[in-house]
Amino acid sequence: MDKIKMTTPLVEMDGDEMTRILWKMIKDELILPFVDLKTDYYDLGLVHRDETNDQVTIDAANANKKYGVAVKCATITPNVQRMSEYTLKEMWKSPNATIRSIMDGTVFRKPIVIDSIKPVVKNWKKAITIARHAYGDVYKAAEIRTTEPGIAKMTFTGKSGKKEEIVIQDMKCGGILQGMHNLDSSINSFAHSCFKYALDTNQDLWFSTKDTISKKYDNAFKQIFEEVYEEHYKTKFEKAGLEYFYTLIDDAVARVIRSEGGFIWACKNYDGDVMSDMVSTAFGSLAMMTSVLVSPDGNYEYEAAHGTVTRHYYKYLKGEETSTNPMATIFAWSGALTKRGEMDNLPQLENFGKMIEKASIQTLDDGIMTKDIVGLVDSDKKTVSVTSIEFIKAIRKRLTKLLA
Ligand code: NAP
Ligand code: MG
Repeated sequence: MDKIKMTTPLVEMDGDEMTRILWKMIKDELILPFVDLKTDYYDLGLVHRDETNDQVTIDAANANKKYGVAVKCATITPNVQRMSEYTLKEMWKSPNATIRSIMDGTVFRKPIVIDSIKPVVKNWKKAITIARHAYGDVYKAAEIRTTEPGIAKMTFTGKSGKKEEIVIQDMKCGGILQGMHNLDSSINSFAHSCFKYALDTNQDLWFSTKDTISKKYDNAFKQIFEEVYEEHYKTKFEKAGLEYFYTLIDDAVARVIRSEGGFIWACKNYDGDVMSDMVSTAFGSLAMMTSVLVSPDGNYEYEAAHGTVTRHYYKYLKGEETSTNPMATIFAWSGALTKRGEMDNLPQLENFGKMIEKASIQTLDDGIMTKDIVGLVDSDKKTVSVTSIEFIKAIRKRLTKLLA
């Protein structure tokens, strides 16, 4: 069989620890035998980030903006312990944060669903995608802890010199204060990313905030979404038979639980952080959660939602074969290849991406799986727990058949 051709390179961001090992297995077994792979390669492994003073992360993000599609391996975000483990020059920033600040945009998280793993919520039939705004609010807040009574005020001095001041609270005893912000530009691009992704994946879009209580802050989110929708997407949504639906977060939570799934739920930063963990756990496992960053100008970065699986890596270093689940990393590759095929009008490549996913699901449906998910499967289904490489080879067998 001739290998599938590519025209534009995929931006490849290699990473750390166990996921770096899986990365190579996936390429060797599932990609390189079938595709004449073109990548623009960046080694985001911690050793190389340190060698380049983290310049490599910036270069990779800029390449993502240039070529449009990237696939990223999980990476270590250094902490005190990693400083000595890797004798680092500096405690480098989280690569995901660096990439996000260059690309801007929204993170979409979607669980991989299979028939034999039933969600905890029994009426959920289709995956629920969480779209998390990744800028501002409590993640960029200024805080004060005071032990004495006093008056708390908030002031804003405009560039024009115009001043606004309001009393937050006349505090009769010690307490806590927090100042948060967000930016119209960021909310605006969050909205564009969500509407684009909904059209892209042919799903309804739900958006929720607490605008009844937060009459200016959350209301600004609601209004900007409404304006962006009316001006740019309403006609497209109607044509595609899709719905945009705004509701209060309390109402959304209740509706999500009662729903069948199969839609995108756009959330403010904190809501998205919490709700994505809830949704992924209710669907099964973090190892089955995919993640894609979509920038407002239409660039895509695919990755797994989990980390570098350090505990398994230390076992691997001792010579043990591990049963680490590669599904989310495989889906990062398949998502990126499919998108590349779609953008470059290469139906063969687009189809190949979809076939990787089909072969992976078939393997799980045949009861062949890694240790982490065996316990989640319906008790009457026969399963066999395999190592990562055995699992990937089982997928390859099915992929070869599908492509024949
Ligand atoms: P983690 O790598 O997601 O792993 C936490 C635990 O979850 C593992 O020990 C394992 O449980 C289970 N798990 C996660 N993914 C799995 C998989 N694919 N297959 C099987 N089990 C899986 O999180 P962490 O241990 O907190 O973080 C490790 C490193 O990853 C840190 O340095 C962190 O900075 C980095 N990180 C990177 C990203 C990213 O690049 N996007 C995201 C999060 C964390 P058992 O040990 O019980 O088997
Ligand atoms: Mg979280």
